[in-house]
Amino acid sequence: MDWSDSPEQAVFRQEVREFIQKELPERYRAGDDGGEGFEGGWQADRKSDDPVRRDTAMQWADALSKKGWIAPAWPKEYGGAGLSTIEQFIYNQEMAEVAAPMPGGMGVSMLGPTVIVHGTEEQKAEHLSKILSGEVAWAQGYSEPGAGSDLASLQTRAVRDGDEYVLNGQKIWTSGGHNADWLFALVRTDPEAPKHRGISFVVMDIKSPGLTLRPLINMGWKHHFNETFFEDVRVPVKNRIGEENRGWYVGMTLTDFERSGIGNAVGVQRILRGLLKQARTLPEEQTRAARKKDGTWRLAFADRWIEADIARLFSYLNMTIQLRSLIPNHEASMSKLYTTELNQRIASTTLKLFGLYGQLWDKDRPEALRGMAARGYLGAVSSTIAGGTSEIQRNIIATRGLGLPRG
Ligand SMILES: Cc1cc2nc3c(=O)[nH]c(=O)nc-3n(C[C@H](O)[C@H](O)[C@H](O)COP(=O)(O)OP(=O)(O)OC[C@H]3O[C@@H](n4cnc5c(N)ncnc54)[C@H](O)[C@@H]3O)c2cc1C
Repeated sequence: MDWSDSPEQAVFRQEVREFIQKELPERYRAGDDGGEGFEGGWQADRKSDDPVRRDTAMQWADALSKKGWIAPAWPKEYGGAGLSTIEQFIYNQEMAEVAAPMPGGMGVSMLGPTVIVHGTEEQKAEHLSKILSGEVAWAQGYSEPGAGSDLASLQTRAVRDGDEYVLNGQKIWTSGGHNADWLFALVRTDPEAPKHRGISFVVMDIKSPGLTLRPLINMGWKHHFNETFFEDVRVPVKNRIGEENRGWYVGMTLTDFERSGIGNAVGVQRILRGLLKQARTLPEEQTRAARKKDGTWRLAFADRWIEADIARLFSYLNMTIQLRSLIPNHEASMSKLYTTELNQRIASTTLKLFGLYGQLWDKDRPEALRGMAARGYLGAVSSTIAGGTSEIQRNIIATRGLGLPRG
């Protein structure tokens, strides 16, 4: 298999590179903010009290929007870039290479494509353009305290009352809900039906009366996600996407695409290149592990380097499947499982490079990269839980990939 660009692909890659070179705001160029990300990414910048952060977010969104590149995978008729699979791959590769934040978040990656597939013309007209303009940011209300891996057991109730549903219940782990304007959620509309068949997919203004968000602070002291409570929240029936009680199938439209990720594979290679640079250039006292004669750290680093290459090959596999107009299934789980577990190993290798300095938390201390090692280590823990745990990915690989019987 030859993975080098064809002449047309090389031209497109160059176009993306030049665009990034010209348009990516300085604030986003460092690519890495001490393991912290940009404190909630583009979506948080957009809602920030700081006018510089707000302007940066809008400047980047405007540049992408003028080029038609906010939603590279959406068809042109809905305002997307209509890029081919291979062009999307190149686009994602180049953006991940510089860790560029992507405006639109879950609106672009999840809600928009769901509306394109399952929405009415009215719903498309109402929601798609607001995602593309950056006017409306979305959050996902799937998980509940008693429904995560077994999502179909969700209990948040939606009872029909004329032209409205009345919602009561609770969601949890709502990422970025505090920076979002609208929420898409799976709710139970028929408690008597078998569990997958009594669920509907609804969307609502996150400021709807009766809807409350409560911050959850994670172990890295970040406000990433929230608990979401519904107390008699009224949602118009016209806000349901797809048929009543068929919401499970609407909600599952995109999970396999979510897991196929070239971004992650490129991301780990970028992190390793940064780490190698630190190991070579930081004072000896801070990086003793890398310089030890027994070479343990060097061997660990070499393992991570090879593993990053394997992660890249997994993402190529997923792309090949998409090129054949198929949807990656257990292959997407392989990529998700491998890359997120690799993320954790890289975080551990990073921590070890700095020895005791690796435990520093203070962002103002240059030793151990302003606390990056410790923050990165804690931040990596959740990656094997979010978007389906490693155990669930292994179950999918075993049953759908290897054809083993269910345990
Ligand atoms: C950083 C982060 C962001 C998130 N963002 C969102 C969001 O925006 N919106 C949203 O709706 N949700 C979000 N989630 C929730 C996420 O989807 C769930 O945490 C995940 O699906 C696991 O569910 P759970 O936490 O209920 O764990 P459980 O399902 O209770 O699992 C507990 C443990 O049991 C194991 N287990 C469960 N079932 C099986 C099985 N059948 N076989 C083997 N082992 C099993 C699991 O692997 C895990 O180790 C987020 C989670 C994280 C960590």
